[in-house]
Amino acid sequence: MLSFLRLGLGLRARIAFAFGLGGLIVSALLSLTAYSVTRTTSLDQRAEAVERQFFNNASFVRTASLTEDASFGDILDNLPQVAGGSPIARIPDNENLWVAPRLASEDLPPELIEQVATGEGAYSMRYSRNGNHSLAIGIRVGETAVSYFEIVTLSEIESNLSSLRTTLAAASIGATVIAVLLGVWASSRALRPLATVSEAALSIAAGDLDTRIDERGDPDLDAFVGSFNDMASALETRIERDARFASDVSHELRSPLMTLRASVDVLDARKDELSERSGAALSLLSEDVTRFQRLVEDLLEISRSDAGSIDASFDSIDIVELLRHVRAATGHVDIDVQVMKSLNSPVILGDKRRLFQVVSNLLENADKYADGPVRIMLGGSEDHIRLTIDDAGPGIPKDERRLVFDRFARGVAARRRGTGGGAGLGLALVAEHVRLHHGRVWVEEVPEHQGARFVVELPRSREQ
Ligand code: ADP
Repeated sequence: MLSFLRLGLGLRARIAFAFGLGGLIVSALLSLTAYSVTRTTSLDQRAEAVERQFFNNASFVRTASLTEDASFGDILDNLPQVAGGSPIARIPDNENLWVAPRLASEDLPPELIEQVATGEGAYSMRYSRNGNHSLAIGIRVGETAVSYFEIVTLSEIESNLSSLRTTLAAASIGATVIAVLLGVWASSRALRPLATVSEAALSIAAGDLDTRIDERGDPDLDAFVGSFNDMASALETRIERDARFASDVSHELRSPLMTLRASVDVLDARKDELSERSGAALSLLSEDVTRFQRLVEDLLEISRSDAGSIDASFDSIDIVELLRHVRAATGHVDIDVQVMKSLNSPVILGDKRRLFQVVSNLLENADKYADGPVRIMLGGSEDHIRLTIDDAGPGIPKDERRLVFDRFARGVAARRRGTGGGAGLGLALVAEHVRLHHGRVWVEEVPEHQGARFVVELPRSREQ
């Protein structure tokens, strides 16, 4: 198709446009052909009928003119009429006298008068005067110099042709509109399978890895559907394998780490007996073991969420109550939760353990990167709850605000603190848990002062 049509037009619009253009071309061609055939035929038929009558009349005029006392006025008056026609005669002997019952010589085209006067045989001409179309035909009568003409009006045929033109133009426009509608219908039918594929792809992207498309019994589409389903199966197998691997590794690391932790704790209890250097080394080891344990726990959690929400249990949760628990567990009891008026009920349907982790990760990050949270707000509407945690730290640069939710992503704040931060899994876990609840999480700047504002929006029911 014309390449310029691709600019800015969607596939559906392009198909409808192509149908419309096709309809217009076909209907215009048919209309033009029908019009020109009708025009030629009706004008030719008219000319034929006129000529037949004209020659009869001419021969009558010739015979009558041979009579001594012939008066051309009477002769012309008595001629049988050609429908819509009028006779006129020119008698050159008589000082170029024009005789006509209903016409004047000006009604004839001068070229025709000249042709008939100088040439041999009959001449005809189609012409238009003052918007009236006419056919004139003339001949010299026998050996005399008398020229006999008849003028027939073609206005009736022209007006019929004009109505035909209007009708055909209207029919062409109608056919084009129908073709466009047909195009819209055909394109939406043709694109329907694509919508199904797009929905399935979205559902896979949202974590429903077992989503497949049903075959429709259409050989053209089934090959496509088959490849899509094969791709989805391959993807599912691969993700499950990767998740299992990470989960197996984390599991395997858990027990030696616990042994290590216990040993470090034993040593820690006897720290006083150690030399200063050994005590410092023990502190470093203890810190690293804690970080390592945290990393393994986070990895286990991530691989669990990759494997799907098998262990998720959704119950009614009072978020105010949950916040109280998290604040107590993470040492943030001194920060009050500001509950907005918009929050008519703090209860949502959610997985308690995961939501606990969402809030505790955000509070711990505020501790790590910003000397703790400065404000916790709870608001929302009828269909969702919105939790906002503000800190007064360095904030997160605009270009990092999406990236920090990726796995193993550490931002400038963490780099500034050297090895003090985590492995970059905390916010990835927050994002995974929030997605499992069909919610959203993002970070922005605190409007009133410098700092990061983490916003978690959770729908009240899981269907959203
Ligand atoms: P980690 O803390 O283990 O590095 P996270 O996923 O929890 O990983 O955080 C990712 C990055 O986001 C951090 O490395 C840090 O740069 C940035 N970040 C998270 N919370 C804050 C915050 N409250 N203020 C500034 N930066 C933050």
